[in-house]
Amino acid sequence: MLRKSLAVGPVGCNCSVVVCPVTHEALIVDPGGDAGRILALLPKLGARPVGIVHTHGHFDHILGTREVAMATGAPVSIHADDLDLYRGLVRQARTFDLVVDEPPEPSQILAGGEILPFGQLQARVLHTPGHTPGSICVFIEATGEAPLLLAGDTLFEGGIGRTDFSGGSLEQILHSIRDTLFKLPDETVVVPGHGPETTIGEEREGNPYVGRRASAG
Ligand SMILES: [Zn+2]
Ligand SMILES: [Zn+2]
Repeated sequence: MLRKSLAVGPVGCNCSVVVCPVTHEALIVDPGGDAGRILALLPKLGARPVGIVHTHGHFDHILGTREVAMATGAPVSIHADDLDLYRGLVRQARTFDLVVDEPPEPSQILAGGEILPFGQLQARVLHTPGHTPGSICVFIEATGEAPLLLAGDTLFEGGIGRTDFSGGSLEQILHSIRDTLFKLPDETVVVPGHGPETTIGEEREGNPYVGRRASAG
């Protein structure tokens, strides 16, 4: 797979463009701002977006959605349990003194377990609640290379997502990471919602909150 991730928007949300190398159909995950930079990347990758996927409904993962959706015509998706957050983008942004337009109404409401095809590749939607009720991770496998996990704000290098926002749950995020994400192959490359990339193997071993060395429980 072809893939480019870039930190966008006011708090450096990692937006990823993942491209099928054969057909050049592509998914855009978390267009969190700087729509112009995301759109400029598409011709460089030869990408033809067929979907815009959100890992969750926080404003910093949505700020570029409207512009990217209008420019590409790609359908927008988000998990059902984060629809209220998504539709509340204007209100969320206002608390950070940002004035934005409403995001487009999603054309696909996710429940978890969906397969999102793009070209000859497929992305699997994993429902991983905890940071928000409708947090998802996007898992993509391709023959002969390490799988890719776009983890949103669920799992970070050496960290886990905050659970002190409304709708957050520490118990749920620990369950999501241990029983869903840590079942993925060691070599899976993890692109978190913010900050550096890591792998499932490294986090399962060394993550101080949920790794093997974290206090038992
Ligand atoms: Zn978030
Ligand atoms: Zn975030």
